[in-house]
Amino acid sequence: MLRWVLPATSTVSLEALPALRFTALLLCLCCSSGCDPGSTNDAEPVATNASNTTGGTSMGTTSAASVGSTSGGGGNDGATPVERHGQLTVSLGRLSDANGEPVTLRGQGFGWDNWWPQYYNADVVGWLRADWCVDLVRPAMGIEPDGAYLANPAASKARIQAVVEAAIAEGIYVIIDWHAHDLHESEATAFFSEMAAAYGDYPNVLYEVFNEPEDDETWPQVKAYAESVIAAIRQHDPDNIVIVGSPEWDQRVDLVAADPITSDMNVVYSLHFYAGTHGGWLRDRASSVLEAGIPLIVSESSGSEASGMGANNYTEWQAWFDLMEANHVSWINYSVSDKAGETISVLEPGAPSNGGWDTTQLTETGEYIRGVFQSHCD
Ligand code: MG
Repeated sequence: MLRWVLPATSTVSLEALPALRFTALLLCLCCSSGCDPGSTNDAEPVATNASNTTGGTSMGTTSAASVGSTSGGGGNDGATPVERHGQLTVSLGRLSDANGEPVTLRGQGFGWDNWWPQYYNADVVGWLRADWCVDLVRPAMGIEPDGAYLANPAASKARIQAVVEAAIAEGIYVIIDWHAHDLHESEATAFFSEMAAAYGDYPNVLYEVFNEPEDDETWPQVKAYAESVIAAIRQHDPDNIVIVGSPEWDQRVDLVAADPITSDMNVVYSLHFYAGTHGGWLRDRASSVLEAGIPLIVSESSGSEASGMGANNYTEWQAWFDLMEANHVSWINYSVSDKAGETISVLEPGAPSNGGWDTTQLTETGEYIRGVFQSHCD
């Protein structure tokens, strides 16, 4: 989600991030898919200009022999998700487990680390696993905003690594998300090379190399960038899954299907939806791509409009769940944040930074999605 609006009630310290004081009101590029109110109908929009934006191991113990289930979800046998599914791969056009069986992972995404740093800790990861029963988390490392990775890489990297290492300790999967909206190839290549060297031996880790290209990056550009980052990753890690976005906020998976990456087998393509904006036209596109044998993962989604605001459309949201579950499309709900009045924030303003949230500390969206995760927790 391209959402450069400062969180209204985040506890991010402006003293710690002084540059924010000067730029807070300038950051509203907003508008992922969504800031355009014209894109809220269900017709497939034409996105040709900016004013019409469419929307847009247990470390080391995951042998194939330990993989006994393909259902995803929690631990009915007491095993962690990584113990059950092991090293992920792509098989027959789907994200698959160590046995080559399709797997559906269900997870929760964090809000931008530069705006919600307080939730980037092991307590929150442990709570999301223990209470919400997630298989997967996605720390979102902000790249371009003031105070984010390009300005302060050490602080950003430390936050992401805290979540990655907590996920490894919990035996769940984790997507390292380069939460950018523009191309920064040299910086991304260096970062992912370092991450692959540190974590490439852990089956827990997936790499998402470009959160959401906008409508000013072409698929050939994104593809070339991804191939470069993948090459850097593969110098250290031969096999962990790499997630690649597509133009128009990860919606042009049709362009991907016409010209997929062929230099690496373990690539999965991200598709993002916000059910209040993105309806049947985008599901039809996803279905066509899946039928063509292109593996998809929904690495961001929620029930609201693409702006993150507005009422949840539970009917459309359920239709998305039905599509994802029927096709073994793993998915992430977005996001762990506490912005007042924001529909997609799963936390009420000021919710504790160490998890342990009761229902009064969850938003309507938070309560709903927790229930969805728990319904899969067999
Ligand atoms: Mg590996």
